[in-house]
Amino acid sequence: MKFYSTNGQSSPVSFKEAVIKSLPSDKGLYYPEEIPELDFLFLETLSYYSLPQIGFEVLRQFCKDDIPEAKLQEILEGALNFEIPVVEVEKNIHSLELFHGPTYAFKDVGARFLARCLGYFNETENKEVTILVATSGDTGGAVASGFYEVPGVNVVILYPSGKVSDLQEKQLTTLGKNIKAIEVKGNFDDCQAMVKKAFHDTDINAKLNLSSANSINIARWLPQSLYYFEAYKQLQKDKLVVSVPSGNYGNITAGMLAKKMGLPIHRFIAASNANDVVPRYLIDEQYSPRPTVPTLSNAMDVSDPSNHPRMLELHEKSFKDIIKHISGFTLSDEQTLKVMKECDQENNYILDPHGAIGYAALKAGLQKKETGLFLETAHYSKFLSTVEQALGKEIPLPDFVSELMKKEKEAILINNDYEAFKAYLIG
Ligand SMILES: *Cc1c(COP(=O)(O)O)cnc(C)c1O
Repeated sequence: MKFYSTNGQSSPVSFKEAVIKSLPSDKGLYYPEEIPELDFLFLETLSYYSLPQIGFEVLRQFCKDDIPEAKLQEILEGALNFEIPVVEVEKNIHSLELFHGPTYAFKDVGARFLARCLGYFNETENKEVTILVATSGDTGGAVASGFYEVPGVNVVILYPSGKVSDLQEKQLTTLGKNIKAIEVKGNFDDCQAMVKKAFHDTDINAKLNLSSANSINIARWLPQSLYYFEAYKQLQKDKLVVSVPSGNYGNITAGMLAKKMGLPIHRFIAASNANDVVPRYLIDEQYSPRPTVPTLSNAMDVSDPSNHPRMLELHEKSFKDIIKHISGFTLSDEQTLKVMKECDQENNYILDPHGAIGYAALKAGLQKKETGLFLETAHYSKFLSTVEQALGKEIPLPDFVSELMKKEKEAILINNDYEAFKAYLIG
């Protein structure tokens, strides 16, 4: 299978090349040349498959030319070694708990798969790779953990100073070894812009063998489709409505990919905070980014989501077709806090501020005969101060958090200045 650029100006590449290059030179996004339709029998018998087995059936379609089957199985068993349970929160509303991985957020799935693919490609390449990542919070932690001590891979993470939670910051800055953190005096979009610029910078490319681990990398993006299969396996409902707390739109477009491969999902909701460029787009087809607004659900503070072109590509660029499958929903911080409190009081279920928006979207828009599923994208303890603010009570720190909070932060603080970043990278 080959992958083409959504900008159509650079030639299609193999899975391996797309993973290593991450971004095509025409600044588009890689996208598979064909979307395989899964066997009807596989979908009918999903309940007999473990999560890594589902991963094998789905992903080998995309990477069989570059990863031998036995190796792919090994990669998936290593990457997907935790539970992804569906929990009923209240009648007809379920939570897909994506936070049982090592960094307590869904990004573990993609990051662990990517790390293992790159590790495998690196075995045969014998060149050091430098991974550049911009994070609005959770990506960095997942990538840091996924790549920690992978031989031949160095990781440089950029994060916006003061805009990630304390726990997230600790996850980014305390591993050491092959993981370096850069704290940027700016926002996530500034960090992302610097990373994008570095990929097209000839001086840097002459010295370093760059790769990316952002959700734009196909090895991050494709495996995210797996947990939609896992959710369907556990629920087996007609008219399943999936509400996805969205920021950079990697997660929800991977769900749309699963649907395109044959998974019977009825419709999607793009659940957004005040950074609502996509919900606005879904109303009038005008894609008009505004400056990023900081919110309580900071992993979704993205004003110009990178994966929007993939949403178009999934529907042959037809807006009419897109809005058949997906609608938008926006929630303010104030409402988010209120929903978190209500859900705790009524259901005894603690939501994190991202999942809360997904939950609220279902409460607001679920129709008769539909079954609702929202993605609980992070464990609430990653946003403990917000949770305590919402619930109006103290929540004890889980052990894993107190251990991490004791560790010493190591990061390099820089201004929002590309030259400073470049100097750090290549001196
Ligand atoms: C990254 C993240 C999101 C947004 O996911 P996208 O794929 O960027 O849309 C939502 N919630 C949490 C907790 C996240 O870490």
